[in-house]
Amino acid sequence: MIISPLRKFPLYAKILIGMLFGLLIGLMAVILGIQQFASDYIKPFGIIFLNLLKLVAMPLIFASLVSGVAGLKNISRLSKLGVKTITLYVFTTITAVSIGLVMVNLIRPGSYFSQEKRAEFVEKYADDLATRQQAAENLSKLPPLQFLIDIVPENIVDAASSNTAMLQVIFFALLFGVAIIMVPNSKVAVIKDFVTGLNEVVLKIVDIIMHFAPFGVFALMVALFIDFVGDDLRSSAQLFTSLGLYSLTVILGLLVISLMVYPIFLRIYAGLSFKKFYKAIFPAQLVAFSTSSSAATLPVTMEQVEKELKVPNDISSFVLPVGVTINMDGTSLYQAVATVFIAEVFGIELTFAQLLIILITATLASIGSAGVPGAGMVMLIIVLNSVGLPVEGLALILAIDRPLDMLRTTINVTGDAMIATIVAKSEGRFGIVK
Ligand code: ASP
Repeated sequence: MIISPLRKFPLYAKILIGMLFGLLIGLMAVILGIQQFASDYIKPFGIIFLNLLKLVAMPLIFASLVSGVAGLKNISRLSKLGVKTITLYVFTTITAVSIGLVMVNLIRPGSYFSQEKRAEFVEKYADDLATRQQAAENLSKLPPLQFLIDIVPENIVDAASSNTAMLQVIFFALLFGVAIIMVPNSKVAVIKDFVTGLNEVVLKIVDIIMHFAPFGVFALMVALFIDFVGDDLRSSAQLFTSLGLYSLTVILGLLVISLMVYPIFLRIYAGLSFKKFYKAIFPAQLVAFSTSSSAATLPVTMEQVEKELKVPNDISSFVLPVGVTINMDGTSLYQAVATVFIAEVFGIELTFAQLLIILITATLASIGSAGVPGAGMVMLIIVLNSVGLPVEGLALILAIDRPLDMLRTTINVTGDAMIATIVAKSEGRFGIVK
């Protein structure tokens, strides 16, 4: 009875209702002091939803990429597609970092942050800081070409068993697909049919999971709210006030990207109105917002881009998984803003050359960030190191990271979907579904 009127709502409306309801229940749980109850009995459904999304990510990448590549008539198209995609990704990332640098230099949020507060934050988050510092140190100890080595797995079962090894699975799937093209059709017809069928089955599983999305998002929002606020609403509100201007700078930058830069790109390169585009990918944006993980959102992004934007599967299956791992416009903008903010709070004047270094390292650091919650923050340490800024600065922004992570992940996913649309258009395949 209660569900039936909701049936008529489009998916995004149901997810949105779930999200708002989650915030409300989270708030009530804090007010009533029943956080533990919510954490015990509501949070698990959020985790189940997340697990379902992660569960389907690897099979989805493999099946759709192999069937996409195997469907290509020749390999040269694939390399053209690859070069185009990566060039566009790097270009949008550099644009995002530049916007971040301009915004933070205009607003200068660091100049409003008192020295006492700085000392207080550095002390309060010392432990948390040490863990992240260790993670970043491990990363920076690796040899310079380690990222290339990491793309080539030594064992495919191993690679497929970890959701953080997406590039490795992409590599194997590309190799597998290319080999299928090179073998006479009569010998691989069965394999082609199999992966095409497998792809259909995995897409159906995504469909099934999406029915659960409104409830999953609801539970995630309840859990996020109580985890973030803890049991002291007032101190969280104070946190927003002291870090408000910094957060505002990040948020304004993200808004400029999503409401100005992306619409211009879409209009010029895809002839598509941004309203149509946003309407199509809204469910993916909501899932990205509530999971803070572009990797976990991938199945939803793919479904929306293919079904609603009519980007053919052979393009989306390549462009989107690659985007999840290397294209993070929101993260790169955030890293640029955070770096300059920290420099300013510590009273360090950055030279133009240092700003250029930030432009380069934030671009690379966002490429190196995994599509999981908080990854951008660990990589931020590398950007801070590149211009000799104190890593303790991270303590200033740690507490507010999660809400900003939710927002930057939303932009990361939007950027991937936009490039998939533009690539499809440039190949003359936009709006044509196989
Ligand atoms: N959570 C982000 C993503 O999944 C990465 C980050 O900025 O931490 O896209």
